[in-house]
Amino acid sequence: MSETTIFDKILAREIPADIVYEDDQVLAFKDIAPRAPVHYLIIPKKRIATLNDASPADQALLGHMMLTAAQLAREAGIAEDGYRVQMNVNKGGGQVVYHIHLHMFGGRPLAE
Ligand code: 5GP
Repeated sequence: MSETTIFDKILAREIPADIVYEDDQVLAFKDIAPRAPVHYLIIPKKRIATLNDASPADQALLGHMMLTAAQLAREAGIAEDGYRVQMNVNKGGGQVVYHIHLHMFGGRPLAE
């Protein structure tokens, strides 16, 4: 089992977050340091440290995270213009919080 992270505290409502969506599998909330006008994090309720730790049993959960990102982009009104979905993996990939999460961000041009 992986270490607890700040995201466990958000899941447990021990620290506040600006939650935009929740269901039985995932929680989505605004990034505390947004890099775009819309910047959400979509996290599984199941603790998985990195994408390297995901297994075939997590396939549906990972797909659900992606579809949740698309749904939230639609609801934020940025789906047609376009947005980015990103998962950082390990230190070299820029991962800071070791509980997998999708970044969904947009609302400004990102084509660089
Ligand atoms: P990573 O670099 O691991 O892919 O991204 C972690 C993200 O979590 C960062 O964009 C960072 O701003 C965000 N973050 C870290 N701590 C908190 C927090 O306590 N609350 C919220 N809402 N976001 C956080």
